[in-house]
Amino acid sequence: MTARRRVRVRVRGTVQGVGFRPYVHRLAGDLGLAGFVLNDAEGVLVEVEADGAAVDRFLERLAADAPPLAAVEHLEPSELTPLGDRGFAIVASEGGAEPSAGVTPDAATCDDCLAELRDPADRRFRYPFVNCTNCGPRFTIVVGVPYDRGNTTMAGFAMCAPCRAEYDDPADRRFHAEPNACPECGPAARLLGRWPIGTPVGGQLANDPVARAAAALADGAIVAVKGIGGFHLACRAGDERVVARLRARKRREEKPFAVMAADIEGARRLAVLGAAEEALMAARDRPIVLAPRRDDAGVAPSVAPGSADLGVMLPYSPLHHLLLADAATPLVMTSGNISDEPIAHRDDDALERLAGIADLFLLHDRPIATRTDDSVVRAVPGRPALVIRRSRGRVPDAIDLPVAAERPLLACGAELKSTFCLARGRRAWVGHHIGDLHNWETLRSFREGIAHFERLFAIVPEVVVHDLHPDYLSTAHALERQGVEHLAVQHHHAHLAACLAEHGWTGEAVGAIYDGAGLGTDGTVWGGEILVGDLAGARRAAHLRPVRLPGGDAAVREPWRMACAWLQEAAGPDPPLPPALAGRVDAAAWAAVARLARSELSPVTTSAGRLFDAVAALCGLRPRVSHEGQAAIELEAACDPGERGAYPMDGLDPREAILAITADVAAGVPTGVVAARFHRGLAAATADAVSDAASRGGAGAAVLSGGVFQNRRLLEDASTHLRRAGLRVLVPERLPPNDGGIAYGQAAVAAAGDP
Ligand code: ZN
Ligand code: ZN
Ligand code: FE
Repeated sequence: MTARRRVRVRVRGTVQGVGFRPYVHRLAGDLGLAGFVLNDAEGVLVEVEADGAAVDRFLERLAADAPPLAAVEHLEPSELTPLGDRGFAIVASEGGAEPSAGVTPDAATCDDCLAELRDPADRRFRYPFVNCTNCGPRFTIVVGVPYDRGNTTMAGFAMCAPCRAEYDDPADRRFHAEPNACPECGPAARLLGRWPIGTPVGGQLANDPVARAAAALADGAIVAVKGIGGFHLACRAGDERVVARLRARKRREEKPFAVMAADIEGARRLAVLGAAEEALMAARDRPIVLAPRRDDAGVAPSVAPGSADLGVMLPYSPLHHLLLADAATPLVMTSGNISDEPIAHRDDDALERLAGIADLFLLHDRPIATRTDDSVVRAVPGRPALVIRRSRGRVPDAIDLPVAAERPLLACGAELKSTFCLARGRRAWVGHHIGDLHNWETLRSFREGIAHFERLFAIVPEVVVHDLHPDYLSTAHALERQGVEHLAVQHHHAHLAACLAEHGWTGEAVGAIYDGAGLGTDGTVWGGEILVGDLAGARRAAHLRPVRLPGGDAAVREPWRMACAWLQEAAGPDPPLPPALAGRVDAAAWAAVARLARSELSPVTTSAGRLFDAVAALCGLRPRVSHEGQAAIELEAACDPGERGAYPMDGLDPREAILAITADVAAGVPTGVVAARFHRGLAAATADAVSDAASRGGAGAAVLSGGVFQNRRLLEDASTHLRRAGLRVLVPERLPPNDGGIAYGQAAVAAAGDP
């Protein structure tokens, strides 16, 4: 037996609200250690005492065997004088604990809970709300701090004796699991009919609302399903009649619907999944994963019209697991809203807004505190993921800043795919996806979200950051806040800074920032920028050749207008209507837009997004779109992977390429070849422009960001060129390249610039 030792261990990271203390209690018990564990403002503090060998084993296993939802970032042991303790205790939290402690993202049902859900002998057999310390709702049920049951939407449910015993037992998987519940004491599901609204549905299976809803789904009904972060509209994914009906009722013109499969085998039958896609899909945040649709997917054409990809996800709540297993068919699970409104998350609101869409409502009585959409990701070789939308399952994880914010700050983001960001010191919390800040409803979500995060993380902003654009509602919100310092950050600099900051890069870099639109420092609409700079500042080194934007927003909805503007730029005044658009665009309208595109009244833009629109229209793909980026997505999907040619775009001047595309399309060159040559040409020209700017300065890294870089082909191609040129390539990984990353970038700029 070695000499007796006592060691204090400071543990930092995500270690509160994740079952860390009971885990330490069990580990200490296994190894026969005395001492205690407690939560405090810095994380978890442990003291253990035993003979030296046991203490060493404890230190070896402490991080390695940590519970699934914990993330140990730092372990700091220090030797103390042995006190001769007996036994091991979980000590009550000390006062002054950080209020943010324990608010973690919602996590998918764990295997242990799933086993109980499926075990007829278990008291939680088929209970749609089974959860434990390792899984279940978190962020979406929190109404205040500190994180305990009274501050969640579970406050109204008093635990029964068996649940309470689990909750109080440090050795139990449900020790301090705040949403702990069972059929005796917890939330219950119910199924309501549409007409008259709120009629309980009876008949067979009346006592099992989930089974009843699944049977209705299998029969072709549309069911509004209350989930974790909001309502989904569900229906059979393979039934064109019902999917088309859902699309018509939802008035969601052409945006793709996501599909939920019962398990990974079911998902494999829908989409071509590599190991990376499967890992993303099975992860605890259970995002929607975009992957190529299988030819034999058995998914109705209306699920994702015109898209080569399919958004697929796996069940993430026990209710989903039951529903999918009972329905025995993949289900469309699309956000419960009409068109571009925010997703419904309150029962009364859902019953009202979705009454014209859903035939049945599968509800439950555990309120959703914060509306949170499904996250959306795409796999990219050699990287964690390309995040398209960061929300449920990922929020409110902090993303550290490389430079500490001297003063607490709020960054209000941009306008589309809006998010906000609060920061204090090196910690930054990016809010859930709010949506496009166009209307009162989304603005209200935005304001409520900010207020909620301010309370959750105890931040009183002293600096409020916003976009340069004076007309964004986010800018207006920032400027409304009194008694703070305001800071405007240029849109594309914020894109650059967001990517630099998440990689902890504080030096200089060159960024190709391509997106739809952002106000430039010269008052024109930017969107195809080569910026040189760092977190604190950036200058424009090069940009896409500017062109006039004929008709503002109309030019976004009608890509043929950009085709007209670009063709005129390349070929001279009044270009003839290209054959690919004949019969689809009125000749008089074409002539009028050509005139508009010569007019001083039309704004000038360097937008890469609008260039994609123009090329898609010239290919005859999409003269009109229902949402921004749609034409670009279809152009990417059309690419012939075998094509090796590229259109010339030297100096980011696409005029020659536009002429070549027009000629090729007229000559009958397949769209896939034209699309591929365009992507390859733009990727090469982009890499050249970036390398060029880097060679003139001392920048050691290249950044590719902005919404256009959701295009995997462009991203991969440009990255390859840049790596060959000897540059380190940084791309967004934890945040989206689109405007969902802007708020974090603004925060990084403000932190770096604050004296
Ligand atoms: Zn669990
Ligand atoms: Zn109970
Ligand atoms: Fe942008």
